Amino acid sequence: VHESIILKKEDRGEADELVLFLSRDLGRLMGVAKNARKSRVRFGGHLEPFSLVELNLRVRKKDDLVWIDEAHVKRGFLGIRSDIRKVAVASLFLELAATFLGDGNPDEAVFDFLLDFLDRLDRDAIKPIHRVMDEIRLLGLVGYQPRFDVCPVCGKEPIKGEQMMFSPEHGGACHSTCTEEARLRLPLAPETLAVVRRARELSPEAASRIRLSPKSEAELDTIISSFVRYLRGAELHSMVFLEKLNEVRHHS
Ligand SMILES: [Zn+2]
Repeated sequence: VHESIILKKEDRGEADELVLFLSRDLGRLMGVAKNARKSRVRFGGHLEPFSLVELNLRVRKKDDLVWIDEAHVKRGFLGIRSDIRKVAVASLFLELAATFLGDGNPDEAVFDFLLDFLDRLDRDAIKPIHRVMDEIRLLGLVGYQPRFDVCPVCGKEPIKGEQMMFSPEHGGACHSTCTEEARLRLPLAPETLAVVRRARELSPEAASRIRLSPKSEAELDTIISSFVRYLRGAELHSMVFLEKLNEVRHHS
C-alpha cells in the first residue's frame, strides 16, 4: 500500500480515470484506475484532488504508468474543496512540489510538509504571512532556497533600511549595486525584507502575529512567481490562477 496525495485526475475513455499523484515512497507517478467511474467498491470516488489516499498499485509493462487497483481515502480535506481560495492555494503548493520533484523522485520531507500544510489549510483560514513563508520553505525543501540573509553576489548582509533587489538568477535579495548587470531585478522594500527575515527566525505560531501589508504581500508574490518562472522557464498554472484571485480580492 502506498500512501499518496492525489494531484489531478481526468477521465480516460469510457470508464477509466487517469490520476497524477505524489506518493510518499515512490514520488510523482501517473496511474490508470480501470473502471474507476463504475466501480464504487474499489474506488468509491476516492481519487479526488488533494485527498490523502492509500493506493494498491501494480506496474504496467508497456509504459511509465502504473495500474491503480484500489484506493482508500485517509483524509478527504473537505474544508479545502469547499473554498475556491483554498483550492487555489492547495493547487499551487502541490504543483510547486510536483514540478520541482519531477517523476519518481520520492522525498519524505516534502511529502510530510505538504500533508501538514493541507491539514492546516483544511482547518484554518490561511494568513498571507503563512502562505508566503510556506512557499519559501517549500522552495527550500525542493532545493531552491531563496536567500534573504545575505546578498548571494557579495555575501554581505543588507544594511538596515537599505532598498534591496531580488534577482531570480542569483536566487536572492541582492544589493542594488551587485545586480546592475542582472537581466531582471525586482524591488524588495526594506520593510518587506525585514518581515521575511523576522518570520524565518520565529515559529509558525509566533510568526502569525506578524502583519504582512498588502504591498509586501504583492512584492513577495511577484518575487516568488518570477523566481519560479526563472527556474522552470514557464509559469505554473496554479500560480497564475491564484494571482488572478488575489487581484479580485484587492480590487473589491
Ligand atoms: Zn551584494
